[in-house]
Amino acid sequence: MAARPAPYLEDLNDAQRAAVEALDGPVLMLAGAGTGKTKALTTRIVHLLNQGRAHPGQILSVTFTNKAAREMKERVGRLLGQQVEGMPWLGTFHSICVKILRRHAELVTLDLALGRAEDPIAQLHNDDAVIEDLGGRPIPGAQGPLGHLKSNFTILDTDDQNRLLKQLIEASGMDVKRWPARQLSGIIDHWKNRAWTPEQVPTDEAAAFNNRGIELYAQYQRRLIELNACDFGDLLLHVVSIYQRYPDLLEQYRRRFRYILVDEYQDTNVAQYLWLRLLAGGHKNICCVGDDDQSIYGWRGAEVGNILRFEKDFPGAEVIRLEQNYRSTPHILAAASAVIANNSNRLGKTLHTDRDTGEKVRLIGHWDGEEEARWIGEEIEAAQKGSRGMKPYSLDDMAILVRASHQMRAFEDRFLTIGLPYRVIGGPRFYERMEIRDAMAYFRLVTSPSDDLAFERIVNTPKRGLGDKAQQKIQMSARQNGVSLIEGARLLLQDKGLGGKGAKELARLIDNLDRWGRLTGDEDLSHIELAEMILDESGYTTMWQNDKTPEAPGRLENLKELVKALEQFENLSGFLEHVALIMDNDSQDADQKVTIMTLHAAKGLEFPVVFLPGWEDGLFPSQRSMDESGTKGLEEERRLAYVGITRAEELCTISFASNRRVYGQWQAQMASRFIDELPEEHVEVLTGSGYAGGGYGGVSHDYGASSIDRRVADADAYNSPGWKRMQARSQQRPMCQPKESRNTIIDLQAVSAYTLGDRVFHQKFGYGSITGIEGDKLEIDFEKAGPKKVVAKFVTSADS
Ligand code: ATP
Ligand code: MG
Repeated sequence: MAARPAPYLEDLNDAQRAAVEALDGPVLMLAGAGTGKTKALTTRIVHLLNQGRAHPGQILSVTFTNKAAREMKERVGRLLGQQVEGMPWLGTFHSICVKILRRHAELVTLDLALGRAEDPIAQLHNDDAVIEDLGGRPIPGAQGPLGHLKSNFTILDTDDQNRLLKQLIEASGMDVKRWPARQLSGIIDHWKNRAWTPEQVPTDEAAAFNNRGIELYAQYQRRLIELNACDFGDLLLHVVSIYQRYPDLLEQYRRRFRYILVDEYQDTNVAQYLWLRLLAGGHKNICCVGDDDQSIYGWRGAEVGNILRFEKDFPGAEVIRLEQNYRSTPHILAAASAVIANNSNRLGKTLHTDRDTGEKVRLIGHWDGEEEARWIGEEIEAAQKGSRGMKPYSLDDMAILVRASHQMRAFEDRFLTIGLPYRVIGGPRFYERMEIRDAMAYFRLVTSPSDDLAFERIVNTPKRGLGDKAQQKIQMSARQNGVSLIEGARLLLQDKGLGGKGAKELARLIDNLDRWGRLTGDEDLSHIELAEMILDESGYTTMWQNDKTPEAPGRLENLKELVKALEQFENLSGFLEHVALIMDNDSQDADQKVTIMTLHAAKGLEFPVVFLPGWEDGLFPSQRSMDESGTKGLEEERRLAYVGITRAEELCTISFASNRRVYGQWQAQMASRFIDELPEEHVEVLTGSGYAGGGYGGVSHDYGASSIDRRVADADAYNSPGWKRMQARSQQRPMCQPKESRNTIIDLQAVSAYTLGDRVFHQKFGYGSITGIEGDKLEIDFEKAGPKKVVAKFVTSADS
């Protein structure tokens, strides 16, 4: 077949082109961020199609997120100059495996799920008996007798998974408090990520979960089949098991997927790797691209070692290294490279760029998180206008990448206030979230009882037995009497127009609303305490606490953030007015928006302007990684920092705050240890807005001052001793005093529950006794692991 001219090849450098044109046999492209790995991979798809090597349906192409898959499809279409028909096998590991598994669900029998060779009927009966013995309560949706999965299997979420495991743990006679389901699910996930069925779990894991882990895993797999269900890990595990057991079927898939391409290869786990290896085993047409420095899913079982295994498993693989970075300016690249150089387990690589020098990475310290959000908002506006010495950028060019999603609220709040359009990747905007709207409806009713829309929203949320019929009656009564719904409801009750549970509950709701309304004028009760009271007493918080969907914990977090947002206002009505005004802002229809997302979600993406807020020890790197013994967790956090910096093309700004509320308490924050790793010559220190106590940079603490352009490089502040001093100061400084005393939210009850000397249990470090308490952190002398500082919520009392 005559090859058509391929202009798309001309956009590539020699190494990329080699990777694209090496169509047959194994290829490993190992290169740093922004070197055009994804570009080369996309072009390779185009080349395969263009050369007539494969139809779209014969190319298996694995990306890390659905978003990346969509983008890749678009890019292929653009490069081909035509709409691509399909590409049905371009997607994430999970989306592709679900598709395969639905076709062959009936092959997933109990013995396959357990990894057993035989499947005697008698054994099945025994297994049934075991389940009966366990006394497992029947779970709704349980399907028929134990046999095999059906194509309509359900995929369990984490909560379902934990509930199921809890039943099994209880039935086994173990103490679920001491041996929580979450811990077991972590262990099982880990095993599944390694593609171990219960039979395959190696004996050196036998001690797991009080020596019962493997046995419980087997019971869990049985139960899942009985329920016609899979968990996330099963999607891959089952497909791998099917391929291993049915070579003919594997052969069919090998023939179907003539070419295999994998992006972000460094984040594959063993099960994913095995799956790929099985599929590529025949023709070996597999091309993987990745960067060991960007492996950020170790906590989910990803194995950087897969990169090393590749060359072993596919001898003769062509290994292509790309060294030219096309994305970032030299300062940005140098800063990222210097940070990642602190990791010890690296393959190591050099990167260069031909781009103009550009701006140094900018670093700035703030008084607190709100101030940080305010400053970034101003910078974005300035960048939009091209003021403050910046060239103009579109909002689409800018992104804020956070370590933890709870950091987003401060930015959203600020941006809504100033009418700056933004999008949150990975969820709706804060004040549009269901739980936030519900909570606000309660607040609205308390401050203005005649707010009928608010009344309608919450009258039966949580469920109070006030369904459509009851609500119609309330409407009618209100209309007939020409009053608001709440008054209509009151009259309806007086007239005994409503009976049963509904009437009782309605009366209670009205009483509550009246009482909360009176409390708005109570001087001894802050509006923050009142808000918490409303959410608790209305049953709203409890509703989400009892909710078992995977979204529930996030919703509870958001409710806490909402309460936190109240702090900046005098009272509830001031806050409501603020939100009403900002939500009325129609700027959100704008085409251009700033992006807010987590660092994890930003993998593979790029933006001309990137803000990296919250670089503080305990937030980034995370507390968990710091508490861990060894450097594995820290190195992963550092790779995340590398991913963050390398998302930036032209302007990268790192910031930290000296004070932050963590689990309801003000905490003095230390600048992140990663900041110390930034090379001085590539960093410009901006004089902090409201950086506490004056001192650093000679700027006294002044909230208002941030609107002034203070783009003054302060070399002095950055020379090492000064820098260290600054960090030390940030540690010693007293916290925001006035707010501290009154704003204790729910989480803290857990903290104050402990006193010095208490004996506690930590899932990882075992037993120990408390030797110090500092905010939500406990110093614990662990019997085996020695002294450590841990976050209180990760320990349970061992005395009770
Ligand atoms: P990451 O490791 O972050 O996923 P990557 O190696 O996949 O990065 P790409 O996203 O493919 O890198 O490319 C980074 C940027 O460089 C993109 O804007 C891309 O269009 C551009 N680019 C890649 N190769 C070239 C090239 N040969 N000439 C010009 N620009 C290029
Ligand atoms: Mg990429």
